[in-house]
Order: sequence, then structure tokens, then C-alpha cells
Amino acid sequence: MPANDPALRAWIDIRPTDDFPIQNLPFGVMDTPEWGPRLAVAIGGYALDLYACAQRGYFDELGQELPALGAALPQVFRRRALNGFLRLGPAVARAVRERVSELLRHDNPELRDDETAVRECLRRQRDVRLLRPVRPRNYVDFYSSLEHATRVGQLFRPDNPLLPNYRHLPVAYHGRANSVVGSGTKIRRPSGQFLPARATEPVFGPTQELDFELETAFVVGQRTRLGQTVPIDEAEAHVFGLVLFNDWSARDIQRWEYQPLGPFLGKSFASSVSSWVVTLDALEPCRVSGPVQEPSPLPYLQTGGAGHFDIHLEVLLLPVGASELVLLTQTNMRHLYWSLSQQLTHQASNGCPLAVGDLCASGTISDATGMGCLLELTRGGQQPLTLPDGSTRTYLLDGDRVIMRGYARTPDGIRLGLGEVRGTVVG
Ligand code: CA
Repeated sequence: MPANDPALRAWIDIRPTDDFPIQNLPFGVMDTPEWGPRLAVAIGGYALDLYACAQRGYFDELGQELPALGAALPQVFRRRALNGFLRLGPAVARAVRERVSELLRHDNPELRDDETAVRECLRRQRDVRLLRPVRPRNYVDFYSSLEHATRVGQLFRPDNPLLPNYRHLPVAYHGRANSVVGSGTKIRRPSGQFLPARATEPVFGPTQELDFELETAFVVGQRTRLGQTVPIDEAEAHVFGLVLFNDWSARDIQRWEYQPLGPFLGKSFASSVSSWVVTLDALEPCRVSGPVQEPSPLPYLQTGGAGHFDIHLEVLLLPVGASELVLLTQTNMRHLYWSLSQQLTHQASNGCPLAVGDLCASGTISDATGMGCLLELTRGGQQPLTLPDGSTRTYLLDGDRVIMRGYARTPDGIRLGLGEVRGTVVG
């Protein structure tokens, strides 16, 4: 697809270390002080205002070719979430990304040489507030890292770490959609019921074991109807793109409540998403094969080819009172046992409808050495981490800030970033 051409250059200065070169062009929503919410595309350190572009006529021709877009212009770009835009269909999203790519090419004077238009259409990301990009009606959290499931299983059930269903289906639970928040939202330490160490009776109070979970999530870009299933070869057509996802978790509450029905209040108080949705189209050059699945899954989950994505992930901590970020862990999304297609097809296999903007998170991503949460890093709180300033952490303190970052690199060496998701714990 033309927008992925590694030879493209933008007329905006972009450093090789930037997350958003012209080959990326992820979608998000910004809140501008003067005009309210606008859909936007990230380019370098800027956000391109799609509403302003539409008002200037830059999408008029596209609107004629694509009646769904034409009828929705320009209002669809003045919303608080991408949902309305995504409902126009994957062909529209793809065409808009291609058109934005054209507008930003170094040899296209259309926007570049119109100073007034540049002033209106291009905002520095640091001058606007980036919002939660989609309004999910449903949020599901998978458990797709075999290494994470095994290590957590060893802590919770030493004699029986990996349950017998794990290699047969992508395990998941339904999370709470309306506590999914945008990057930067403060995370209030939740209270709940838990069983303190060596106690025989539970107590109710602020969690003593607040943790993060390093995850990615995909955004559903094409709905299904009640009763409709999705063959595995068609699953990716329902995925719009990827975000970073921090599934904040209260381990003491979780441990006490999770049996027999799974996670509930230990998870549903907040989950944070990054601001920019990187399209699967953009990530096309970063596909890889996943791990060998043994035993082979049932036929409806069998897929060939490269259905995984090579995306480096890391978690940084800004400890309360500190000024230096500490790298806590690194891993890669390619290690996930279950692919996006398998997750989506499995979720739709009973005919439950998927809605545009739904979020499907991967579950904590870990690998042989990288561990995506403090529960793993501290062996269930038994081995505190020592930070560079000499302080220790088992779980998060009030005032700690957690920052997750992720990026892929194309075979041509172009960095395609997912940006970051951050959140500070408050008491
Ligand atoms: Ca999770």
C-alpha cells in the first residue's frame, strides 16, 4: 500500500527516533482549547486536524469516491472518539490514511505551501490534550502470553500452574468498558476486600498490592451482528489497529475474589490506553510468525502465515519523589501464544456481536526473561526490586508514575511507534 512506502519523506522534520514518521500515521482524538474535540493523525511531534483538513476541502474528492465518507464530512471528524469514523468502514479509514500520506509528502505543495492552512491544520501534540481514542462498548482481556500464564499459575497454584484448556483456546474475561481511561488519567488506589497475609478473616481497605500489566489491545474496526461468526481468515479485516494498554490490577483483591468466576473488582477500577491507534495497515511490514502451537488448535482456530507482530515493549517507572525514569522490564508482542486473529475468531465463535470501537486486550505480555507486571517481577511480592536510588518496590506506591512504550521497526529500519500510555497512582 502506497502510504507504507519506505522511500516516503514528509515535509515536516521527523527524527529517526520519533514514533510517528509518515509511514505510520496513527489516528487519535485531541481536545483543542478553542474548538473542542477533533479527530487527528499523528505526524512527528504534531497532530494533523482532520476536521480542519475536511473544511479546507482536502477530502472532497475522496468523499465523492466514497459516498459513506462524503455524507459524513466534515462532522465525523469533530467527535470525542473514533467510533463514528470507524463505522464508515475499513475502506474509508484506509483511504483517509492514504490521502493524509499524500498531503504530508515532501514533494506535495498542496498543504505544505499554504501557511494559513498549515497553521489551522497542524497542532503541536504538546499544545493539545490527547483523549481516549475510542469509546469502547465492550472490553475483553485475554491471557495470551504462555510465559505470563505459567509464572502467575506457579504463584497462585504451584501444583497446577497451567490449566488444561490453555493451549486449546485463548482464555479471556469480560472487563469493564467504562473505566477504560486515556493516557495521563490519574489512577486512584482502589479499596476492596482482601485477606491479609496470615489472617483468617478478610478486611476492607485500600489495596496494598497495586500492580500494572503491560499489554497491547486491538480496536475492532468492523462490527458483527448477533449470531454472526468470523472465519479465521477474515478475522483481521475486523481489526482496525493497536494501542498500548495498562490493565491496572489490585493483586490482594484479585487473589481473594477470583475463584470460581474470575477477575472482578481487582481489575475493573481502571485500565489505561495510549492515545494513538496504529493501524494494522501500517504494521504490515512488521509481521512475524508466532510460536509453534502444540497441540494444534481445533480447526476453527488454525491459521497459517505471519499473524503476529514484532513490537518491542517496555515499562518505565518514575518513582514518587524521583526525577529519573527507571526501566523495569522489556519484552516483545511477538511472543504471544495466541494471535489477534485467533482471539477475535474465538470471541465471535458463539455469535456474540462485536461492536466498532470494542477493545480486546492481549493479557500481560511476558517472555522467557521479560516480565510484564510486578507480580512476576517480584515473585508474588516475595522479592522486592531495588531501584537505582536504593529504595525498593514490591507493588506501586502513591505518587508512582508508570509509563509503557512500544515500537516496531520495519525491515527498512523505520520506527513505527505506538507512543506511550502513562498513569500516576494517587491515594
Ligand atoms: Ca490483564
